[in-house]
Amino acid sequence: MTATIIDGEAIASQIKQQVATDAAKLSAAGKTPRLTAVQVGENPASKIYTNMQARECQSVGIEYELKYLTEEITQGELLDEIEALNNDPSVSGVILQMPLPGHINPHEMQIAISPSKDVEGIGQSNLGHLFHGQGGCAPCTAIAAVELLRRTCDDLAGKEAVIVGHSEIVGKPIAMLLLQSLRESPTVTVCHVATRDLAFHTKRADILFVAAGVSQAKWRAALRQAKAEGKDLLVPDLSPLISGGMIKDGAIVIDVAINRIPKGADENGHPLKRDNGKTAMRTVGDVDFDAAKEVASAITPVPGGVGPVTVAMLLKNTIICAKVMH
Ligand code: NAD
Repeated sequence: MTATIIDGEAIASQIKQQVATDAAKLSAAGKTPRLTAVQVGENPASKIYTNMQARECQSVGIEYELKYLTEEITQGELLDEIEALNNDPSVSGVILQMPLPGHINPHEMQIAISPSKDVEGIGQSNLGHLFHGQGGCAPCTAIAAVELLRRTCDDLAGKEAVIVGHSEIVGKPIAMLLLQSLRESPTVTVCHVATRDLAFHTKRADILFVAAGVSQAKWRAALRQAKAEGKDLLVPDLSPLISGGMIKDGAIVIDVAINRIPKGADENGHPLKRDNGKTAMRTVGDVDFDAAKEVASAITPVPGGVGPVTVAMLLKNTIICAKVMH
């Protein structure tokens, strides 16, 4: 079997068209949706995200503001800033860029964002709504992953769905989303780092979500170890967590993971370098894509699968917040 490749870019583009229509309607009524991102201190990785958010918002008619705060800000001052945004009627949604400086508790800051402006859907109130199936904003990556599944298969009733990863922003909310229907839900199994026989579970999955980030975790551990021991950096075994043999014939595979790992190693095991001397990197998921596509009926690529739809869902959540507010 050669799997259908689920085109995340195309699905994201359809979602964004609807977002643009909704944003135009809100703007015509004088209620232009506005997303405010808060960034504390300098962070090159955050800059990539905020540039991308600005571009994406602009493309669909959502106003975007980046509020930059210095690294020295106290937790109390940051709470005041968040409170001011909560009370600002021109702001529809607030997103707090991670990581925050070490002296600030990210969880406390995240839950200070008003539930009606929590566009990432990761505050307790929105997660509670998700648990009870009551609407609101759900975590963007989880809704993106489930949207990709639903656009591939509309009959989930009684199927075996296995999720690898049980984080609060991905694995657990995917499980909650799948269980929302009274009669048409799949049977859901959630696996994690302590699962005894992962292959036993994945091999019986009609639907397989994978969100563990194992190869990147191994690469980061190798970097830390080489630094701590002052030894040569060698590329460890970075084989994907899910091999072709762990997938059931005809399964639908949604690979959520984003692993940034070296492209390869030279004959001495050192990472391959680019012309500028930096390590040549590549982005892969948790699934051995080439092997899996010979077994699965449909599969998301990495990149180009869940990632672009996650961004589209952030925009969609901003519209949901803007509609609730007005
Ligand atoms: P996390 O580190 O919070 O959770 C990882 C999960 O994987 C945990 O539940 C852990 O128990 C499980 N796990 C780790 N090793 C395992 C193993 N050997 N076997 C089985 N389970 C194992 O990560 P997260 O924030 O949930 O993100 C998961 C992955 O999804 C990462 O690769 C991340 O980059 C990616 N991600 C992608 C998007 C997107 O837009 N596509 C968004 C968020 C996260």
